[in-house]
Amino acid sequence: MSTNESEYIVQLEDVHKSYVMGKEAVPALRGVTLDVKRGEILCLMGPSGSGKTTLLNIVGGLDTPSRGHVMVDGENVVSLSEEKLARLRLRKMGFVFQNFNLLSNFTALENVQVPMVLIGRRDTKRALELLKLVGLGDRVNHYPSELSGGQQQRVAIARSLANDPPLIIGDEMTGDLDTETSYEVMELIAQLNREHGTTVVYVTHDPRMSKFAHRTVNMRDGVVIN
Ligand code: ADP
Ligand code: MG
Repeated sequence: MSTNESEYIVQLEDVHKSYVMGKEAVPALRGVTLDVKRGEILCLMGPSGSGKTTLLNIVGGLDTPSRGHVMVDGENVVSLSEEKLARLRLRKMGFVFQNFNLLSNFTALENVQVPMVLIGRRDTKRALELLKLVGLGDRVNHYPSELSGGQQQRVAIARSLANDPPLIIGDEMTGDLDTETSYEVMELIAQLNREHGTTVVYVTHDPRMSKFAHRTVNMRDGVVIN
């Protein structure tokens, strides 16, 4: 095993984050210590404002902690240069958000290719395979506006897998989807985990969606409470 191959893909130690609002510091995270094992599906739950999104953004290198340690796949995220962090994000992580975040003037196929283009490796065959994998083999040339919410989220999931990352980060992935579509999207996530060993860390406030996880962690007021 190389140093990157520790049992844990994510390691957070005493992570704090405060946002400065005018003269006040708003604490979003107040000392989170959490490890995620390779191959695990971890669900984060907790009331609105408890720090779930802040935590995901810090794991994803989209935000920086005020203090604490953050390791992702053996890399110390906090000390990486912008360039190395961008590289880590593109190769090691896939992001899925509540509002899909697809580019509206790109087709499904082109959306999936965006992360590939960003690392200089456009692979149309692979992008088509991924769209097939998420059940959209017959929709590859459709624009987001020509797809249902569930289909758009499937495109976003295919895009998150574009560079074959070991870790998927999902923030309220099913928040804008009806119940049946939510189950379908979560089944797909679980399938990716079973068949490819992809680690998944996702936030939901729907207890029905937490049953797809191997482990659920609850947050409150910026700390983990179980
Ligand atoms: P959750 O995702 O659990 O609803 P968040 O992580 O979004 O919670 O927010 C945690 C706390 O941090 C909240 O009090 C929120 O208002 C605050 N917060 C989050 N992002 C920002 C920001 N960019 N600027 C200021 N305060 C923020
Ligand atoms: Mg949130």
